[in-house]
Amino acid sequence: MNLPLVIANWKLNGSKKIFSSLLDFLKKNEEIFKKKCKLSIAPSYIYLYKFKEIIKQNKWIQLSAQNVDIHLSGAFTGEISPLMLKDMLVKTVIIGHSERRIFHNEDEYLVAKKFCLLKQENLIPVLCIGETLEEKKNNKTIDVCKKQIDIIFNLVGKNAFDNTIIAYEPVWSIGSGKSANSKEVQFILHSLKTYIRKKSIPSLNNFYLLYGGSVNEKNIELFCKEKDIDGFLVGTACLSFHIFLNVLKKIF
Ligand code: PEP
Repeated sequence: MNLPLVIANWKLNGSKKIFSSLLDFLKKNEEIFKKKCKLSIAPSYIYLYKFKEIIKQNKWIQLSAQNVDIHLSGAFTGEISPLMLKDMLVKTVIIGHSERRIFHNEDEYLVAKKFCLLKQENLIPVLCIGETLEEKKNNKTIDVCKKQIDIIFNLVGKNAFDNTIIAYEPVWSIGSGKSANSKEVQFILHSLKTYIRKKSIPSLNNFYLLYGGSVNEKNIELFCKEKDIDGFLVGTACLSFHIFLNVLKKIF
């Protein structure tokens, strides 16, 4: 069985000191982490440099970024380019996170542009999709996700999702402590996988579908039982090293 991919999204948390301790903790528990998952850490941009040297020697840790700009260089004050992320040895880049869609007004077209540029630069997009509570109540989950996926297909074409990650993250579940029902997630991911495979090139490869939304020590085992969940995007539970390790220990 393939190991699940786990991306730890640190959001707007952490410090130089905390990330130094995290790296020590990861190395100390290397065998457990390696046994349980393919691990990627997504710290805030300014701490990416702290991981750079370490991951050169520890190939089992990968580096993700939490966002990216739609330009490679130029007069775009405050932005970070895919080229800069590559300089820091980043492999995967989270885009379209609901917190960016909500608090920074990022729309689907901007997200699609980011997706396109990442592909062009051989970085792996982690495209976050998912429905709001109201959309869930109106049974719109699959339609909403398909629409978010179609915008990418329309811009990039049939090979859009080759070597790509999608994180299904119901908006109402992120950071709320209320995870989605594992059986419902399985149904949604299975439907989306089938949909994407049908619309893609026949040789679609390295395509992962993750679940994110209040994953913790109590629910990860249930999600692990579902065959279409290829891994997890974890927020809150990665902020305490011990809780994070306990969550991963439950992966089977
Ligand atoms: C996230 O931010 O992508 C996330 C899944 O957060 P949490 O685990 O806190 O719900």
